[in-house]
Amino acid sequence: MTESVVRALYGNATSLNLGSKKLNVVPKCVSRLPNLSVLLLNNNSISALPAELRCLKHLVELNLGNNALKEVPAVLGHLESLKKLYLFSNQITAVPPDVIDGLQKLVVLNLNHNKIRRLPPEIKSLTRLRHLSVLDNKLEEVPAELGHLTCLTEINFTSNNLPSLPMQLYQCKKLTKLHLARNKLTSLPEGIRALTKLQVLDVAGNKLSMFPVEFDSLRLKELYYEGNRFVRCEPMSSVQDVEVLMLKELVARFVLKEDRNRSSLVHRTLPHYPTLSELLSNGSCCALCLNPFLTTWLECVHFVSVRKETKMRSSKTIPVRALLCSYKCFNTDGHSYYGVATR
Ligand SMILES: [Zn+2]
Repeated sequence: MTESVVRALYGNATSLNLGSKKLNVVPKCVSRLPNLSVLLLNNNSISALPAELRCLKHLVELNLGNNALKEVPAVLGHLESLKKLYLFSNQITAVPPDVIDGLQKLVVLNLNHNKIRRLPPEIKSLTRLRHLSVLDNKLEEVPAELGHLTCLTEINFTSNNLPSLPMQLYQCKKLTKLHLARNKLTSLPEGIRALTKLQVLDVAGNKLSMFPVEFDSLRLKELYYEGNRFVRCEPMSSVQDVEVLMLKELVARFVLKEDRNRSSLVHRTLPHYPTLSELLSNGSCCALCLNPFLTTWLECVHFVSVRKETKMRSSKTIPVRALLCSYKCFNTDGHSYYGVATR
């Protein structure tokens, strides 16, 4: 080991490989290599880093994978040039916000195989991050601030304890790969169609009953979804009496419909009532008649054949959520939307 460091010192090295050297501590003299851009310390028994490492101002890549770290070392927050950080297979339980703050150039962050329960909201300062991998941890929630990371192209949250995801995830519009297998997801947030670049989605081994509205508009190349609790297509006939809508809903529907007409009084007046406009922005439209509604709808599902180009392990039809405005629409013939019966 000493030999490698001495050789590096004399050679004014830019990279140093101390991987698999049975190290318990990082030799302090490593900090006397100011030109170092790559430092590999993986496969050792390191449990802490010396504060002197903060001198490595040009360090771009640091591999600390497969060591004995119990936390993300504070000194990392001073390595301002760092672009790739590997911390997989340690015993890390938390990611301190102040360390994150110092890593604003980070492009790759690998925290796989640790014991992390939460990512701090401060993660939003990693605005250049493209690959975030937190596979096999104990994540219980994902902060909404993840939506600030608009450069992200790959997220891997496989094998965690996530019961839900924030809708802000869909602000990461450059995402091409989203791995969510083996969590506790009961649904995916609405609005997934915003992920127009998504190619790979893995939601296998969750508790999903259906995919969100307009899921079938995604142009996926790979979809993995086995081991969920999807609703099955076992149709029973049911004709429902037409419901009576609350006055508020009736008014909302009227206003939403009028607002579509650019020359209407409603359309011209609405901008003067910002609270009302915001309330109405939660409106949606009927999958059948396309008329708007606000707070009252019928939960339905349709079974969609997945595009031939999409690679899948199992059947080719998936349940996708759809909302209808009324039993009047539901009772019409010639559509393929099903009401959802509780089992
Ligand atoms: Zn309708």
